[in-house]
Amino acid sequence: MSVLIFAESNNGKFNKATLEVASYAKAVASSLGTSVSAVAINANDSDALAQYGVEKILNVNNTSLENFNGLAYADVIKQAAEKVGASLVVMSSTTDGKFLSPLVACNLNAGYASNVVALPESTSPFTVKRTAFSNKAFNITELTSDNKVIALAKNAFGLQENQVTITEESFEPTLNDAHLASKVESVDKVTGTVTIADAEIVVSGGRGLKGPENWGMVEDLAATLGAATACSKPVSDLGWRPHSEHVGQTGKPVASNLYIAIGISGAIQHLAGINSSKVKVVINTDPEAPFFKAADYGIVGDAFEVVPKLNEKLKAF
Ligand code: FAD
Repeated sequence: MSVLIFAESNNGKFNKATLEVASYAKAVASSLGTSVSAVAINANDSDALAQYGVEKILNVNNTSLENFNGLAYADVIKQAAEKVGASLVVMSSTTDGKFLSPLVACNLNAGYASNVVALPESTSPFTVKRTAFSNKAFNITELTSDNKVIALAKNAFGLQENQVTITEESFEPTLNDAHLASKVESVDKVTGTVTIADAEIVVSGGRGLKGPENWGMVEDLAATLGAATACSKPVSDLGWRPHSEHVGQTGKPVASNLYIAIGISGAIQHLAGINSSKVKVVINTDPEAPFFKAADYGIVGDAFEVVPKLNEKLKAF
């Protein structure tokens, strides 16, 4: 069973999620005694993949694929899988990956597992561990089909360097004009210096911060930590912060290494979007706030006192 990854990129460079997928695929391929190939669309960053164990890359350079297009991309991935003879395709559960992976599975008549969080429990039968019910439970899924598609949960596996020599090949898949009839443009909204999707650390504020004029301390703390800023839904609904910062079930998912929640109660819809984060720190005046039950570290205190002091201490490091 040869392994193919979809190497998702932003502005021609592979994102962290792709390098994580490469690390994961390399580990799976090693246990299967095979190698990892990648297909990339309008990216020129093969050295980055070689660092994480990818031995072959199919480069698709085509201006009609400049913007993300689920149907067309899924077609490209299917043809790439056929070209390299891959029966296992791995991609990330990014926003694009969540859209693409089931389409690829349909195209390849493959068994499909999303939100995979660990290496296969067994490769024969092929069983994987995945999260379910907004990360509240795990389930073990057995894929019985010949072809398999896996969408790896972000930050579940981490990066594992494994330098190899990579072979590059130009790949010209057949494109279906009907798939190119619509055009989707994407704009990365960054209010700080780091996007929520790529952030290792996220500093998030809720209605407890009383108003938009108080976000300076959140931004200061984020700047000290090199973090992205985020917020709860009511905060963006009230127009205190842009909608691009709204995280949770109906907002962006966060899978950072550290999530700091300031003045956020921890409603189930908020937690559903952030509980893949590794370490959660909560600052809240109310010791009964539900967030404390989900937190790794909690400070019962007034954000207006705690946050500036915390920032001062962190700056001193
Ligand atoms: P509040 O619930 O008002 O909590 C404010 C908190 O701040 C309180 O715990 C309070 O003790 C604390 N506080 C007050 N003063 C201070 C202070 N000085 N210092 C420190 N702490 C202080 N919400 C989301 O966030 N994301 C979603 O995606 C989302 N999707 C939803 C989908 C649906 C269908 C529904 C019905 C709701 C959704 N919600 C979502 C809303 C969610 O239910 C909560 O209403 C919301 O998360 C509450 O936001 P909050 O914690 O900022 O505000």
